[in-house]
Amino acid sequence: MPFDDLFGNERIKHILTSYLRNNVMPSSMIFTGPGSTDLLLFAVAFAKAVNCENCREDFCDACCNCSEIEREIFLDLKILAPDGQQYKKEQITFLIEDNYIKPLKGEKKINILTEAHKMNENSANTFLKVLEEPAQDNIFILLTTNMNALLPTIKSRCQILKFSPQSRAEIKKYLVKQGYDPEKARLMSYLCQSNLERILMVDFDEFMEKRAKILSALKKLINGVGVEDILLDLYQKSRSREKFIEYFRQLVNLISLMLRDIMILKIDKSNKNLINIDYRDDLMSLGEYITIDKVLFLIKKMELLLRDIQRNLNTKVLTLEFIKSYTSKRGT
Ligand SMILES: [Zn+2]
Repeated sequence: MPFDDLFGNERIKHILTSYLRNNVMPSSMIFTGPGSTDLLLFAVAFAKAVNCENCREDFCDACCNCSEIEREIFLDLKILAPDGQQYKKEQITFLIEDNYIKPLKGEKKINILTEAHKMNENSANTFLKVLEEPAQDNIFILLTTNMNALLPTIKSRCQILKFSPQSRAEIKKYLVKQGYDPEKARLMSYLCQSNLERILMVDFDEFMEKRAKILSALKKLINGVGVEDILLDLYQKSRSREKFIEYFRQLVNLISLMLRDIMILKIDKSNKNLINIDYRDDLMSLGEYITIDKVLFLIKKMELLLRDIQRNLNTKVLTLEFIKSYTSKRGT
């Protein structure tokens, strides 16, 4: 039952298996959600289920077709990625030319376009031709973590499947199953904001080190020393905008979780609902320097900052504005 082996998103599994059961499949779909690894795992699983020699609503992961798909050598499977920053027009033209050629081995040809939002208008308009006249044996699966960047004309021609992030409890359970001790699993499920892809990339020791740095950043922020040096350090370490956003997301997330703990400690000194249990004493003493209003103000500010950065606004300007607005509020 390999669909069962995929982590989370039961609703999506249900939709995909019902397509298979009824043998009515959309010729083009968009898989969208927070983690690109999840989207690709599901798309490849669906490619197996469509072409599996042993199962109808699922895949065996053992037959020749399943194992060729797993190794990405199956003749009727294409997994495309942007050539450089964006899809090249030739990549899309190739799909059009290939559209009417029958499958060579399997039931249907599966074309998976990763990072589908990285099509410029020209490529997207070319791609529309395939969507408008889909060949019977061809299925297109567009994967994207950024639905807003897809052309409305493309979206309107595809079945859209929205993936949801996994719950923290699901993630903790998964990590414990992978051999993590429960306390580590608990902390990591908070860090990764319910995103399996991020969890799989995390080195736990590195994470603990980062957390210690963030505690010192928070001390500086609360004491009004400023966090410019930390942000500068982040800029230098991040080789790309995407990397910077990822670091920044972690910074905002961890600071917010610590601020949340400070607030809890101000109201109730028990450890009951604390996330950063090991930092209890530090957070308790930080709480003496900050009012609940200021904690709430900071959490809200950081969330807004992250939202704006994700909307592709100018990172540097926003960060400087944040520092300015915080310092002007200091002492209030
Ligand atoms: Zn199979």
